[in-house]
Amino acid sequence: MFENTSKRIASVFKKLSGNSKITERNVEDAVEDIKNALLDADVNLRVLRRFVNSTLDEVKGTAVLQSVNPKEQFVKIVYDKITALLKGDGDSSLHLKGPDVVSVIVLMGLQGNGKTTTAGKLAYRLKSENRRVMLVACDLKRAAAVEQLKIVASDAGVEFYSEDTSDVCAIVERAISYAKKNQIDTVILDTAGRLSLDTSLMDELGSIVEVAKPDEKIFVADASIGQEAANIAKEFNEKIGITGVILTKFDSDTRGGAALSIASITQKSVKFVGNGEKKEDLDVFYPERIASRILGMGDVVSLVEQAQKTISEEEARRMEERLENHAFSIADYLMQLESVNKMGGFKKMLSMIPGLSTAISEDAINTDELKKEKAIMYSMTKKERDNYRLIGPPRRKRIARGAGVSIGDVDRFLKKFEKIRLTMRKVTKNKKLQSALLEKIGMLE
Ligand code: GDP
Ligand code: MG
Repeated sequence: MFENTSKRIASVFKKLSGNSKITERNVEDAVEDIKNALLDADVNLRVLRRFVNSTLDEVKGTAVLQSVNPKEQFVKIVYDKITALLKGDGDSSLHLKGPDVVSVIVLMGLQGNGKTTTAGKLAYRLKSENRRVMLVACDLKRAAAVEQLKIVASDAGVEFYSEDTSDVCAIVERAISYAKKNQIDTVILDTAGRLSLDTSLMDELGSIVEVAKPDEKIFVADASIGQEAANIAKEFNEKIGITGVILTKFDSDTRGGAALSIASITQKSVKFVGNGEKKEDLDVFYPERIASRILGMGDVVSLVEQAQKTISEEEARRMEERLENHAFSIADYLMQLESVNKMGGFKKMLSMIPGLSTAISEDAINTDELKKEKAIMYSMTKKERDNYRLIGPPRRKRIARGAGVSIGDVDRFLKKFEKIRLTMRKVTKNKKLQSALLEKIGMLE
């Protein structure tokens, strides 16, 4: 997601810094290039026009070009505008009642957009915040849908409610009174979707909302369908009224037009994004971070957070220290490889570190290759893992035999490790550069 867009925008900025002087004319060109990159990412045209006009107004209105650091000022303005597009009404939290009162969340959207999966993820998340959650099956058109939600509920470890009737409003009413009697404080309604917008879908949702008086009406949108998601969201907002959005399939290889258009068109916030099919794969949506990712600054903050979830804090600190001292060892590399599985894969991690994704070729991601590498690393002594320079020819032979690979494999691995080590050094330097830039444009809290 955003990979191509961010590459293109980064090159626009680069081109601009190649100019000895920046003028109104080349800023206009740069904004046009950024607009085109976003257009190719399937961002809505009306949204883009607003972006272009307000960016140029600000550049021209605030004496940016006469300032001491016009290029940085310009980057900051673009960054602010993109962030504003992503922000919606700026309210990213869920508004639920306290523990003694039942809160109701209704999830709505088209069929196949991820409502049921999201119901499970949301339930799992709220449960970890000590809420007592119950999922209610309101998709009665297909028997399989009820069964699917039941499985999702048990996977998330929350209560499940369904009834064998076709009167969905009666189910909602009784589910809520069941919740009141059974100390359940959060009820999530998984509603039916249709393949496209139709009146019967809207009518049904309208009556559910009337009965349930939900605290949150969340529109679940498939990010992979681009700006079309924004048009559908608009329709739901006008007919039913939504309080927020969850974008699913954010992990898929799409161009990001949905994320950039939906908040701006509905003026509601994206509260979470779905990043996979498992119950853990729901992340808070941070407009600032997505904006920096789109602008090619890399999502360092998210990466650090994700790393902290899986690598212990002690390990992370040690890693950072080593990176600072340029002492990245095979032991560190091995530890990283062991933790990336937990982090949702190597590729995902690479995409978050600026510069790294291009430095390590696809074969590093090949799992057979990785297995071989791990065998080589495990066949080393601790000393060798801490200092790869010790590994001369006799040691290579021993390591190869231990790992059941050829000496050539060990040589290749060591060469590659050197390359990775070099990149890691560059990334650390980059990171410093980056925080200097971020600080300058006021992004660091
Ligand atoms: P519903 O019809 O709106 O209830 O949609 P479902 O929850 O049944 O999801 C439809 C499909 O999308 C399923 O195969 C899900 O596993 C998949 N899906 C849902 N959310 C995500 C996500 O965030 N990432 C990915 N990769 N797949 C998802
Ligand atoms: Mg469903």
